[in-house]
Amino acid sequence: MDRIPDLQSLSKPELADLFSSLGQPAYRAKQVFSAFARGASIGEITTLPKPLRERLSSDYPDATPTIDRKQVSKLDGTAKYLLRLNDGNAVEAVLMKYEHGTTVCISSQVGCAMGCAFCASTIGGKVRNLTAGEMLGEVAAVGRDAGERIDGIVLMGIGEPLDNYDAVLRFLRLANDPDGLGIGYRHISLSTCGVVPKIYDLAKEDLPITLSISLHASTDERRSRIMPVNRRWGLDELLTACRAYFEATGRRISFEYTLIAGENDTPDEAKRLASLLKNYLPDHPLHVNLIRLNEVKETGFRTPDGDSARRFADLLNRLSVTATVRRRLGSDVDAACGQLRRKNAPGGEGNP
Ligand code: SAH
Repeated sequence: MDRIPDLQSLSKPELADLFSSLGQPAYRAKQVFSAFARGASIGEITTLPKPLRERLSSDYPDATPTIDRKQVSKLDGTAKYLLRLNDGNAVEAVLMKYEHGTTVCISSQVGCAMGCAFCASTIGGKVRNLTAGEMLGEVAAVGRDAGERIDGIVLMGIGEPLDNYDAVLRFLRLANDPDGLGIGYRHISLSTCGVVPKIYDLAKEDLPITLSISLHASTDERRSRIMPVNRRWGLDELLTACRAYFEATGRRISFEYTLIAGENDTPDEAKRLASLLKNYLPDHPLHVNLIRLNEVKETGFRTPDGDSARRFADLLNRLSVTATVRRRLGSDVDAACGQLRRKNAPGGEGNP
């Protein structure tokens, strides 16, 4: 069932229409829009007259989440947040500091329907989509808590963004508005497990965001085993869509490859991966982000050691596919998507 739209999901022109219908001056739209981007809830916007604030608070759900828990990595300062939504559901967001700026990784759904075998977010399935306002609220609440200007966003938290397409697209446009978060599209990455029709739709939107494809295997047999989405849209369809996306947008696509010990980390797999990518994307600047699996107890999969991950990367590089092993930011703070939410669910180990 669709939820009542929240005010944080509205664009400035939509807020202007709303305030005009309430007999309020036009400047309220920008005032409220900017306050949401700073992480304010409706009740906190004290520049609004009190009766108006009370009316809005009772008519609309508040999409700005509250911070339930925060774990800061002692290793690298990465902060992982458990955020509570207004209906009691929780999602995760992560604040990461890089030399070139501060990025927030956000969730797009409560849970996930995609069923990837190694992932904690999908255990228990999808509960619901987030609204655009809730995604904006994640970025704003984390930025406010950290006292940092947010320079970039990655949609790599809980959920499959292309399975919540309309709200995600609305969110991207809200996040880009200079009166709000003002985040350039080039500083936004969207990661997908491969919902092929939506990759074609995204190519038509003309947004210069970075698309990231979670590949994780180089044969249909293996990919279908660990990623059920591959049974619907196989590697041929996925990589053909990637080529079309690249041709339409000129934007580079990066590939995520989670290394799982004894599953997809063999030299043969690296060789097949290199020829697959070069075959489908011969003119594309290829980049593969290798991620050593964050172990999720329930799945039984194991992470390879650092040496074998480096060997996998070296082999790809020798085959002229640029590959880097991603630093495991926040590996001491349950940084694998969905781990913190699960631990804090009723019956989870953080919440016995
Ligand atoms: N649904 C989107 C985005 C969410 S996950 C997608 O599939 O791309 C972001 C990335 O983390 C994906 O590449 C996902 O496959 C990977 N991932 C999920 N669980 C992981 C784990 N336990 N260890 C390492 N990477 C994981």
